[in-house]
Amino acid sequence: MMRLSFKEMKDAIAKIVPKDIQYDVDLEAGDIAIITPTPDAFGGGEGLVGQIAKKIKRRIVLRPHASIMKDEAETEEFIRNLIEDVAGIDSIYFDACYCEVTVICNKPGEAVGRRGANAKAIRDECGWLVKFERTPPIYSKTMHDIRGYRASHAKERRKLLKDFGLNIYRPKRPGSFWVRTTALGSYREVGRACHLVTSNESRVMIDVGVNIASDTDPMPYFTAPEALPMEKMDAVILTHAHLDHAGMLPVLFRYGYRGPVYCTPPTRDMMLLLQSDYLKVGGAEGKRAPYDMEDIRTCMRHVIDVDWGQTVDIAPDMKLTFHNAGHILGSSSVHLHVGDGKHNIVFSGDK
Ligand SMILES: [Zn+2]
Repeated sequence: MMRLSFKEMKDAIAKIVPKDIQYDVDLEAGDIAIITPTPDAFGGGEGLVGQIAKKIKRRIVLRPHASIMKDEAETEEFIRNLIEDVAGIDSIYFDACYCEVTVICNKPGEAVGRRGANAKAIRDECGWLVKFERTPPIYSKTMHDIRGYRASHAKERRKLLKDFGLNIYRPKRPGSFWVRTTALGSYREVGRACHLVTSNESRVMIDVGVNIASDTDPMPYFTAPEALPMEKMDAVILTHAHLDHAGMLPVLFRYGYRGPVYCTPPTRDMMLLLQSDYLKVGGAEGKRAPYDMEDIRTCMRHVIDVDWGQTVDIAPDMKLTFHNAGHILGSSSVHLHVGDGKHNIVFSGDK
């Protein structure tokens, strides 16, 4: 299959979109974002988005242009006036990185309005894309903090998504194709799960666990020649949040890795909880963890949420799909499609 560069994709899109429609093309890691002041012009099943996706064979996301977006305070006021009390709005979160507003409420079915009328009104009047979520039975400060933290770094995350995208759609390297996997931890031992998939084009790490039981060797074999230089890896993927799979992830950021971390949203939230606990417990026992809260926060800014069943481009020659592994909340088997799908590798994670 022909692999298009970012410029070639833009040219292909320009041939499909009528001249009088305003838009920009941007990258959100492996997704192609179309930013427009007239989102309706792109919609519909057989609409422009569908035609573009068919042509360039990439996931297309539609984002409102800044010129049609009301500010957060105005949008919040609009939402609170629009949605009836019976829906029981609990809180409203904005994430400018994806132009998304999340309304947490007791009755999302009521909040969304008849046939989605409220969702449409918010989009049409305020520009923001809206999601409705049910109020959880117990308030989680962790989730509140993560949402706030990611929102406050929306601009930086937007820039990172673009950089990740440019890396994914970089020019192809010459030479024949090969791929191999390397064991960096958890083989014939329990703990510190870590695998590396290397091809002639890219390097991807799956899981970055800690060996809790070992005082002397808690880390995976980060210094194996194939793992270096760490900062040049294309992506890190997590199967789930348990410390023996994600406990050493912040170490990568301590040593200069600044690439994306792909995981499901529950894995993202729970790993932050478990990594912070690991620091606390280690501190209480007088053992120093090889990273600190700042490394955990840096890591949080680099996380890209991927839901089960969604296929995303993560490297020039690799796509990723998560499947429900049934182990803990958010746990996934990692399916890598390598080299235009000629090779398929599955890491089951814990089952
Ligand atoms: Zn596990």
